[in-house]
Amino acid sequence: MQGWVLVKNDAPLVCMEIEDRPLKGGEVRLRVTHCGVCHSDLHVCRGWYDLGGGRALSLADRGITLPRALGHEVLGRVVELGPEVHGAEIGDVRIVYPWIGCGHCKMCRRGDENLCDNMRTIGIKEHGGFASQIIVPDARYLVDPGRIDPAWAATLACSGLTVYSAAAKIMPLEPDDAVLLIGCGGLGLAAIAMLRAKGHHNIVATDIDDDKLQAALEAGARAVVDSRMPDVREALIRSADGPFAAALDFVNSPVTAKLGLECLAKNGKLVLVGVGNGEIPLSLPSMVFSGKTIRGTNSGTLQELRGVVELANSGELNPVPITLMDKSLTNEAMSMLHDGKVVGRLVLV
Ligand SMILES: [Zn+2]
Ligand SMILES: [Zn+2]
Repeated sequence: MQGWVLVKNDAPLVCMEIEDRPLKGGEVRLRVTHCGVCHSDLHVCRGWYDLGGGRALSLADRGITLPRALGHEVLGRVVELGPEVHGAEIGDVRIVYPWIGCGHCKMCRRGDENLCDNMRTIGIKEHGGFASQIIVPDARYLVDPGRIDPAWAATLACSGLTVYSAAAKIMPLEPDDAVLLIGCGGLGLAAIAMLRAKGHHNIVATDIDDDKLQAALEAGARAVVDSRMPDVREALIRSADGPFAAALDFVNSPVTAKLGLECLAKNGKLVLVGVGNGEIPLSLPSMVFSGKTIRGTNSGTLQELRGVVELANSGELNPVPITLMDKSLTNEAMSMLHDGKVVGRLVLV
C-alpha cells in the first residue's frame, strides 16, 4: 500500500510504499476513503510538546517510531477480515476509533482506553489514514456512521469526539449559563454546534482571527470578542451578562488558560482541550475561595464516539464547515493547518 509518511521530524511527509502484512486474529483491514487532518498530526511531525518550565515531552521517548503514516480521523471500507473477526463484514463503511489502548490495564478495563499508558493509537503508534489502507486490531473499534456525510463522520473520530467529551465535562449546566469558548478553529466551532444541540445558548467565543470569529457567530455563538483587544476579560463578561459558569480552552496557552480561569464565576469549570504549551502560575488560596475547577481532557472513549455519532445522526447537530482536499495534497493540507488558514476541518479524500 501507499501512504504519506513521516520519515523525519520537521520535514514534509513523503509519499512512499508501506509494507503490507497478513492479518491475524481479530484484525480488520480497511481501505481509507476519508481522513481528517488534525493539529495533533502537526505535533507528531514536530516530534515534541512544550510542557512549560523548560521541560519537553518527546514522542520518541513515548515509543513513537518513524517512518509512520499519520492520520487518525479515518473513515473507510472494510476490505479484509482476519481469521477470528466477529462483527464486521467486507464492504462495511465504518469510522475508526483510533485511541486504542493496551486492553489490559485498569484504564482500558474501565473503558478509558484513551488514557492508557501504552496506547496503540492509529495514525501515531500504528499507520493511520494518510495511508491507503489501515489495520484495526478488532472490529469493536469500528463505528457505523449511519446516514451522515462520510467526510464529517471521519472528523468525529478526533475533533467531534474531543469536543463531545470536553462538553460533557462542563455539565451539568442550565441552558442560559454562560459558556466561554476560546479558539474558534475546527474544534471550537464543533463545540459551539454541540452546545447549541444540547440547548445551551449563552455561548461567547474569542479568537484572534476575524474569519474564525465570523464563523463562530454563524455556528451559533451569541457574541464574539476579538482577543487582541484591550480589557478582553471585561468585554467577554459583559457579552455574557456576567462571569462564566464554564470555559473551554481550545488553544491552551499561558495567555488563554489564564484568561479562561479569570473569566469564571465561582464554582466555574475550566476545561483545557487544546494541546498548547507552557504553564500558568496559580493562586492557591484563590482556588479555594472561588471553588473553581481546572481539568484537562484528551480525545474520548469508544462509548463517547458512539454517542457523538448518534447525536450527529439525530439531526440536532450542525456539521462543521469541511474542506475536501485530494490526498495528493497532504503536505499542502498540513501547511494550511499549520498557518492557521483553515476554517472548520480539512478532510483528505
Ligand atoms: Zn486529532
Ligand atoms: Zn491500557
